[in-house]
Amino acid sequence: MSAAKWERRGECNHCGYCCEFIGHKIFVFTPQPPTGATEVDRHFFAVRGIDLVAAGARAALRVDLFTPCKVYDRAARRCAIYAQRPVTCQLYPELPTQIVGTPCSYWFERQVAGQVERVGGNGAQPEIPRIYLEGGANGDRVDPGR
Ligand code: SF4
Ligand code: SF4
Repeated sequence: MSAAKWERRGECNHCGYCCEFIGHKIFVFTPQPPTGATEVDRHFFAVRGIDLVAAGARAALRVDLFTPCKVYDRAARRCAIYAQRPVTCQLYPELPTQIVGTPCSYWFERQVAGQVERVGGNGAQPEIPRIYLEGGANGDRVDPGR
């Protein structure tokens, strides 16, 4: 029996993460003991600039590309065209793996075997220091201080 579809919950806290970063998923996998998605595993990838994020029983390897939108005002932490922002921006986030481990305040829920499974929604800074890949073009690593 397949799990129900994820449904988004919550509100935007206007943290600006989705206006400055693209979280690019490298691949998704099912963690297996004894090398499941432990803190040791997270650190192994974190020192290489890659986040290991868990969403339900699945995990993903993800890098954050620092690609700030041209119309994002970082000082004011606002979108200059908010009322006319693209549909892509209006729909974000659409999947748990886009936001787990990010400051995004949305979360996702689904029914699994009669239980509600919930992921995301921390709205908090990541627990581990992040290294970002600037623009994804030349592989230079920067830490924009988030
Ligand atoms: S258009 Fe606005 S909401 Fe969309 S990424 Fe740019 S600043 Fe953010
Ligand atoms: S990352 Fe989430 S909470 Fe932050 S601005 Fe984007 S949609 Fe809003």
